[in-house]
Amino acid sequence: MPSTQNKDYYGLLGVKKTATADDIRKAFRKLARKYHPDVNPGDKKAEEKFKEISEANDILSDEKKRKIYDQLGFYSDQIDPAQAEAAARGGYGRPRPGGGGAGPQEVPFDFEGFDFSNFEGGSTAQRQAGSTAAGGGWGGFRDIFSGIFNQQSGGRQPQSGPQPGTDLEYTVNVDFWTAVRGGTARLQILRQETCPTCHGKASSGAPMQCPECHGTGHVTQMGGRMKFNIQCPRCGGTGKVQNMCPTCDGEGVVIKREPLEFRIKPGTRDGQRIRLAGKGNAGTNGGPSGDLYLIIKAGTHPVFTRTGDDIYVTVPVTMTEAALGAKIDVPTIDSHEGGARTQLKIPPGTQTGQKLRLREKGVPSASREGVRGDEIVDLAKVNLFR
Ligand SMILES: [Zn+2]
Ligand SMILES: [Zn+2]
Repeated sequence: MPSTQNKDYYGLLGVKKTATADDIRKAFRKLARKYHPDVNPGDKKAEEKFKEISEANDILSDEKKRKIYDQLGFYSDQIDPAQAEAAARGGYGRPRPGGGGAGPQEVPFDFEGFDFSNFEGGSTAQRQAGSTAAGGGWGGFRDIFSGIFNQQSGGRQPQSGPQPGTDLEYTVNVDFWTAVRGGTARLQILRQETCPTCHGKASSGAPMQCPECHGTGHVTQMGGRMKFNIQCPRCGGTGKVQNMCPTCDGEGVVIKREPLEFRIKPGTRDGQRIRLAGKGNAGTNGGPSGDLYLIIKAGTHPVFTRTGDDIYVTVPVTMTEAALGAKIDVPTIDSHEGGARTQLKIPPGTQTGQKLRLREKGVPSASREGVRGDEIVDLAKVNLFR
């Protein structure tokens, strides 16, 4: 029967064998922050590393599991502590490859020669974009941890069970007038779509015999001088594996460039977030798609300055006009495209630099139907003798 190789869980977390539970927890948190899938969207290496450190933490943070691991050099749910004790008493020699043929080279993971030095690195630069999961930030951390612990780890088999797609975030530049009056915006987005070959299943073809256990579902592993018969980590004891889908590399999704057209409501503000439900990355295995968030970046205008739904303009007046009163034409967002300007009555005794308000000449509100902002006219002093 083939044997599997032992993993160096301590090395993976960059801690000593004498590490306390607290050391392990801290080391894991630090690494998890670096390799968390939310921080490294689409990065398979990071995802793989995240699974490895999660597995290491799963074993080492559990007192019972850690004890078995310490005694045998590996962990399996099928081994009870008494067996491990007996094996440990039998001798502490380096685990030898099991008899019966297959050597370590057939093992899917080989941690020897793995460079763990970068695990000890300094602080992690947090990415600004990318992580837009509802609830935000690191809230989903614990959920993902516990989710991973329950999976058959170590296997190269595509993961089963529905996985929801992640959210996407894009910044969209919209010119001043489109934001004020509304219109359509177009952009190209890159999003993960359900793989057309495997339809999100991540595997292709019929199940084959597991090459690691040759279909038996079990492999042997040495613990001290004792040989253990454990569940095959590659096929999870089923004796069968499925080919990874060649189109999507077993991801269940492919990255596609997609043109997107969406409506900008009149009165859309700078910095506004528009959520397009279900337009984020596709889920796998029937999991739901994430959402797409568009952050509006509204352009400026040489004459009109916009603050919320209000418009500010500066209009020159002479001292005489201000002192004696006058009627002057001022530009508004309505008059801008050839429409009539609005007449503003300057009452006698007005000071230059004073601001006058034109009610409801501002931007229509995007959130409140029929409501408009104001236009605020700044009366700037003109030098008569220039
Ligand atoms: Zn596929
Ligand atoms: Zn197997």
